[in-house]
Amino acid sequence: MESRLFRCTECNELTNMTEHDFSAEYHYDKEKDCFIELVKNDREPFITKHKRHKVEELKVNGSSFISDRPYSEPLKTSYFEATNGREDFVIKRWRDRIESPLRYEIAEGYIEVTNKSVIHCENIRKQIQAEINPLISQDKITRLIQVVERVISELDTKSLLKDSLELDHPLVLQCRLKNSVIKSIVELSKDIFKGEEFKKIRDFIYDNSDYTGVMAPLVKRQFTIKPSPQIGKRFKKEVVIPTEIGQGDILTL
Ligand SMILES: [Zn+2]
Repeated sequence: MESRLFRCTECNELTNMTEHDFSAEYHYDKEKDCFIELVKNDREPFITKHKRHKVEELKVNGSSFISDRPYSEPLKTSYFEATNGREDFVIKRWRDRIESPLRYEIAEGYIEVTNKSVIHCENIRKQIQAEINPLISQDKITRLIQVVERVISELDTKSLLKDSLELDHPLVLQCRLKNSVIKSIVELSKDIFKGEEFKKIRDFIYDNSDYTGVMAPLVKRQFTIKPSPQIGKRFKKEVVIPTEIGQGDILTL
């Protein structure tokens, strides 16, 4: 969907203009068991309020969209970055109700995302106990888990993310272990397990390192909104400074 984001520089308020601003939207009404038509008029209130103000277009950083709620949640709040070429902004976007128009709040700054890999220690333990016979001692399983934790903590989370699946939650990614990582875990487990026990553990590691396996780590993401240290610098390479538009331009968009 084509859309353009505009900011009134005097009121610091935003509107997102799309080709669908004037088209009707339909929502299913559970109680009445029918579709209801909602009249949309997202553009007009902004134009009326900021008619004589200076309005600028913002360029949105398309890869910056983030939310702390599941994708399936219709009323979630999202955040994204945008710039006017001189200042960087973080924009909060949400809806109060499903049929309400999107609302925006703007602040100067940028979004900092950190990634942390996590393994399911207790799931590994349970799965080994369920799959391997005769039972392996708790102490040996604990040592294996420590090896897995150490090997995974040394991996660069960015390389883990290159081969990851998004689950329903934007802040949790399911990763898989590369062959080279599996091999080093197997190699280190030779210090813990011998003979038949080692063979069983080796097979277990290979069988459980794909996306859904208990050995595969998750990457949990966190994001914070930071005040901009270098105004306008972060977008230097990609930004196209939009030409300022006057009220006449907006009215004919
Ligand atoms: Zn205004």
